[in-house]
Order: sequence, then structure tokens, then C-alpha cells
Amino acid sequence: MDVTAQQVVNVLERFAPPILAFENDKIGLQLGRLNRPVHKVWLALDPSPAVVKEAIDQHADMLVTHHAMLFHPLLRIDTATARGKAMALALAHDLTVYNAHTNLDVAEGGVNDVLAQRLGLQNTRILDVTYRVSPHTGATGSMCGQPQELASQVFGMGRMGRLAAPVSLLEFAVFVRDALTLAGIRYVGDPALVVNQVAVVGGSGGRWMHHALVQGADVMVTSDCDHHTMAEAWQEGLAVVEATHAAMERPVLKWVQKLLHQEFGVAVQVHISNLVEDPYLWA
Ligand SMILES: [Zn+2]
Repeated sequence: MDVTAQQVVNVLERFAPPILAFENDKIGLQLGRLNRPVHKVWLALDPSPAVVKEAIDQHADMLVTHHAMLFHPLLRIDTATARGKAMALALAHDLTVYNAHTNLDVAEGGVNDVLAQRLGLQNTRILDVTYRVSPHTGATGSMCGQPQELASQVFGMGRMGRLAAPVSLLEFAVFVRDALTLAGIRYVGDPALVVNQVAVVGGSGGRWMHHALVQGADVMVTSDCDHHTMAEAWQEGLAVVEATHAAMERPVLKWVQKLLHQEFGVAVQVHISNLVEDPYLWA
């Protein structure tokens, strides 16, 4: 019997339950239908027209992304825009589009754990706890409409950990650049500063800077920081290494691929988009 999109979703939501998503986040089925038979799943960061076309060209039945296709309420679908084009293409080919966003960020083993591991952090802990399993009601994650035991009792954004050995901020910035296969990286702080305690927040993590400071981080690794955020960090004495959003979040796709492989074996092929999803280039 064919695997359905709903069965793929059930597996994803066992590891990244919707209940972990932040308020007002847009996650779940974005477009299409969950009763669609699925032989091939396509994974990407963004449901761009190019990614949707790639998925269709490669005969995928389902596209799973980190970022949402539909974030703001729609007043119209203008197929001359990139988003409208992607939606029209997906609908025309009966492609099921699903996304896991902040629930994947905070999931045990998700975006931030993958990053902490990539950066070799040890003794990692959650930077900001955003969800606790209530002691009164027990586990509250839901899967297939049934209560599901959550693997952990607390979940949250970002991770804190220490390096195997202290290094200078400059050395650390170069290490992060290479670990995330970037051609360049920006950082704030004294290049000679010795760093050991590291906070990491995948994606736009500027608003967790104070958590990093309070928890004694020497340096924070995140992306999408504006001048004011960086200037404040500088004044507060927190070094920041700023990677790109895509470089920080693409690594989790391999984890998602592995989860689906383990569950479905050869019944469902799972591919990661071959397209370059980072809009930034280095001159
Ligand atoms: Zn993101």
C-alpha cells in the first residue's frame, strides 16, 4: 500500500510536534492534500518557484520546507509574483506542500541541536525554554490525533555549550565559516578575545542576545542581525558571529532526510534540493 502525505507528516510531527511551534507561526499543510500517495519527498528551506519546479521535474509528490509558503493571510493570488507562481505550479501538479518551522527549531535533534553538533559544542543545554510538559497532564504532544509521549520534558530555542578548547574570536569565526561552508563571515568583538562558552540560535536570533549574555556566553552565533542589535551586543561585551540564515538552517534537512529514511526505507525516496538556497554571495 502507498505511503500517504499524512503518514509522512505523522513521522515529522513525532519529532517536531506542532505544539512546540511559537504562537502565530505558520506550520503544517500549506497547499495540496494529505491523502496524496507519496513515493518521493523533496526537502528544501524555502518553497520558492525554483524549488517547486525542481520538485515537480524530479517527480516528487510532496515538498517539505522549513519556511512557510503561506505566512500572511492572502487577499489575492497574483501568479505574476514569485509566491503566486510557486503556488500555481504546486497546485497544477498536485504537489503537497508542508512546513515545519519553529517546531523544527526547538525539536530535540532539530535545527539548533544540529548546529550545536556542527560547531562541536559540548555539554549543550537549551538557551531559552519555550515549552514544558505539564506535570499535571503528562506528555501533551499530539500525533495522529492521539496523545504521544514526548521524548523530552523541556524544549526551547537556541543552545548553549562550550568548545572543546578555548580559541580566539577570530579563530572561532573562521571555524564557523568553514563548518557552515560559507565563503565569508561577519563578526563583532575583539579578534583576540578568548571564547569558550558559545550560544547558537539558527535563523534570526538577535532577540535571544540577552539570554546569551545572562547565561554567560562569550560569543553568540546567529544570523540576520541589524546594526542596532550588533552595536548593543558590542556595548554589552558579547561577541557575535553572524552567519547567513540559509547556512544555519540547511544542515537540518539532512536530519529530516534521515528520519524519513529510517521510517519508510525504500518505500519513500527522500531528496534534498540541489539548488543554492542562500541568496547571499561574497564579492
Ligand atoms: Zn529560518
